Amino acid sequence: MYNPNAAAKPMLGPEILSVKNVQRGFSKAQGTLLVLDDANLTLREGEIVGLLGRSGSGKSTLLRIIAGLIQPTSGEVLYQGKPLDGPAQGVAMVFQTFALFPWLTVLENVEAGLEALDVPPRERRARALAAIDLIGLDGFENAYPREMSGGMRQRVGFARALVVDPNILLMDEPFSALDVLTAETLRTDLLDLWNDSKLPIKSVLIVTHNIEEAVFMCDRILVLSSNPGRIMAEITVPFPHPRNRLDPGFRQMVDDIYTRMTARQSFDAARRATLELGSRLAQVSTNLMAGLIETVASAPYNGNADLPEIARSLHFEVDDLFPVAEFLQTVGFAEVREGDIKLTPAGRVFAEHGTQERKMLFADLLLRSVPLAARIKQVLNERPGRRAPRVRFKQELEDFLSDSAADDTLDAVINWGRYAEIFSYDDQTEMFSLDDIVS
Ligand code: ADP
Ligand code: MG
Repeated sequence: MYNPNAAAKPMLGPEILSVKNVQRGFSKAQGTLLVLDDANLTLREGEIVGLLGRSGSGKSTLLRIIAGLIQPTSGEVLYQGKPLDGPAQGVAMVFQTFALFPWLTVLENVEAGLEALDVPPRERRARALAAIDLIGLDGFENAYPREMSGGMRQRVGFARALVVDPNILLMDEPFSALDVLTAETLRTDLLDLWNDSKLPIKSVLIVTHNIEEAVFMCDRILVLSSNPGRIMAEITVPFPHPRNRLDPGFRQMVDDIYTRMTARQSFDAARRATLELGSRLAQVSTNLMAGLIETVASAPYNGNADLPEIARSLHFEVDDLFPVAEFLQTVGFAEVREGDIKLTPAGRVFAEHGTQERKMLFADLLLRSVPLAARIKQVLNERPGRRAPRVRFKQELEDFLSDSAADDTLDAVINWGRYAEIFSYDDQTEMFSLDDIVS
């Protein structure tokens, strides 16, 4: 039946923001790290656009550039046709977790969003109350953040962003700190408001590493590659809202995007198959490594599996599974190609044996494929007491890596080295040694 009051879903309108040839690097100990290279995108009124990429691909950096919080090294951002210089009025941001003021009530926290705008107190209050009402926090005006759940606090964050009446809402992984159910409720509430044209915004740009979330929410998905970040695919999502995650079309799209991202991934991994001493290493737990090998080895996969399928059955997200698969490829337990993972003979041997054989096999592969592991072992062997402090290796790594990357890399190799029993490491004294190592 025709309802003259029913607001329609926002119509796709004119271009409101564009990113042109944006490059951004960060200087590090040696040279610069190019994080974004030639990033281009446009945002039109009436659409929700997703920026999807792996952790570290430069999503937050790009969003911060669009928010005017940091500058691109080259290229520019046009907002309503004009080059951006600094944060623009009309662009609001929602973060993964909000720094709410603990000593202020919900109402006061939301009003704080308006302080910089010079809004008279009465109007400030009225607008804050309206935003609180809109986002489903009615009745919580006088509560303090500590009295609220994570989901409620995130709603306060949304209200604080919406109260300024932004044209564009930027969101950086806004649901990723919430538990599954709370996240889904908040997503659905937000989509309902958007589709009923109740939100005072013209477009939304959401950053996520979660493929399902992107397909669930967005009209268009831009996939960002890693190292350096560049838009490598643009996907239009045609499904009407509300969307059903179990719908075959929905599943197919998730799988397709997954495959594209792993195809690119295998290329990266192949290139990185030969690590160097100063290569940055990502933490991969040996439990996850063994778990993935065992899963792929067993029925129904029998050594060859579709990564998206495995991810779903193990309740992994992209970010959880990629580094593990990549690591298996690096050490030679598996090959990853176009969304498939296939165990090598070494991977099969690993799966078929017990702990001791596994450790020996892993030790052998680790020393061959991870130069840092071999380096530590060699230094320990050469030293009279067969001991060396952590700082000895950290300094060596700092020729290539930042302080925190060097620490992460050492932590990763310590974890693997312990499992493989190629060296010992004492957390208290921060010493490597060959004590208790039989070789
Ligand atoms: P994402 O949000 O996709 O996880 P980020 O944009 O946060 O990625 O980071 C991309 C890369 O840029 C990472 O390697 C990160 O370490 C680096 N990076 C981000 N901000 C800085 C900074 N201020 N200084 C140096 N490196 C940075
Ligand atoms: Mg980020």
